[in-house]
Amino acid sequence: MSLFSSVRFRLTLWYLFFFGILLAGFCAFTYFLIKKDIHDRLDNYLVKDSHHAIATMLSELKENPGNNRAAALEALSEMSLNSPIGIFSGTNLLASNFTENLDDVLVKEITDSAKKSNGQVVLSTRYAGKEEVRIASLLVEAEGKEFFVILAEPLESAREQIQPIKEIFAITLPSTLIIAALGGFLLAKKSLSPVVAMSNQVKHISANNLYERLTVKNRNDELGQLAETFNELLLRLNNSFENMKRFIADASHELRTPLTIIKGEIDVALLQAREPVEYQETLSIINDETVRLSKMVNDLLALASADAGQYKPKVELFYLNDLIESCYKTSKVLASRKHINLILSPLSETPFKGDEEMLKRLILNLLDNAIKYTLNEGTVTLELINEAKKVKIVVSDNGVGIAEDSLKKIFERFYRVDKARSRSEGGSGLGLAIAKCIVEAHQGSIEVESLLNKGSKFIVSLPL
Ligand code: ADP
Repeated sequence: MSLFSSVRFRLTLWYLFFFGILLAGFCAFTYFLIKKDIHDRLDNYLVKDSHHAIATMLSELKENPGNNRAAALEALSEMSLNSPIGIFSGTNLLASNFTENLDDVLVKEITDSAKKSNGQVVLSTRYAGKEEVRIASLLVEAEGKEFFVILAEPLESAREQIQPIKEIFAITLPSTLIIAALGGFLLAKKSLSPVVAMSNQVKHISANNLYERLTVKNRNDELGQLAETFNELLLRLNNSFENMKRFIADASHELRTPLTIIKGEIDVALLQAREPVEYQETLSIINDETVRLSKMVNDLLALASADAGQYKPKVELFYLNDLIESCYKTSKVLASRKHINLILSPLSETPFKGDEEMLKRLILNLLDNAIKYTLNEGTVTLELINEAKKVKIVVSDNGVGIAEDSLKKIFERFYRVDKARSRSEGGSGLGLAIAKCIVEAHQGSIEVESLLNKGSKFIVSLPL
């Protein structure tokens, strides 16, 4: 992964972007405030001086009545101001220490502005092609005449005062940004280091070591939670991987048994010439094992398609009571062989939407089990119970029952409480696993209640 495409780099860029905007805004605001303060102070100083100049002029007028020009010259020499000043009567210049003559048009503009703003005006302008200056003008009436003063101060001095601040910002802004970028990059690197560590750990996890777990440093932070979530995923993967391995081992074992029997029977038959009745016996055994094999392969196919999410019911409307009755009739033959009393509780008409074939397989499986695991002359009952929003199919027997610790496992693939008994009855331990898949495909549930040596009750609930 290149540095530029890394999250660290992008985080640093975003951080720098927002921090840069904030910092630039702060500098601009500070610069504006300082500049305004300097200009305000300059204006105050000019206004104060203009008042002082007019006051001096008026007092000189009293001393030189009728001689305005002399009064103005006196006033000018008496005042020791730094800024150049001009004293006017109307638009006539009485006295001035401006090095250049003030343009008449400019003087007119200034006087007009002063008149408009109650005699006092402060403005920025240029004269005689010089640098920009700040001008303060004050206009008063005395002895029936208008007198006004114009004071000018070059803005250059204000600019000089601001210059160091500009320089400070010009140095500190980029250097702060560089430091912030470095800091941000290191911070992002440190914050993301657990992710890098996790990714290195994950790289070493394969199907052979799914039991390994990521180190969780702090369960309460986001990265700790990510590691925990990943560990939970690993646990689930490990479990399903183990289940798959066990399933493959069990399936191979189960498929090998009938094949071994078939091979053994053929070998024995071929050893020497035999009577037709002996061949018939051998073929009958081979036939039984082939039937068992093909049933198991069908069951395995059904489970594989359920695992692939393709075991979907073909929904059609049918009468569940008719299906129950037909299953009852089919199983009756099997039950009568063991002298088992198979009872069908009274049925009421139950229209149902579902996969008839799947449900037939489910009911026959449960009946088959009940008959298999009930001793001769026992009783098996089949019931259909209608409830408000669901129907219940209940198969109960008074057979061998199931011990409590096995109850949870009987729906697992290839699980059999008594392997030898199940095998001798033609079972392979897949019937209930398929029953569960069928029920779940119909959004229903299957439960079992059982007492050892007393009997079992399988209850299938299907939503209507
Ligand atoms: P199997 O082919 O062995 O019958 P199932 O998946 O149908 O496989 O059943 C799993 C196991 O559950 C059986 O081997 C048996 O031990 C137990 N079992 C199922 N139904 C009953 C029942 N009605 N009475 C007692 N045990 C049962």
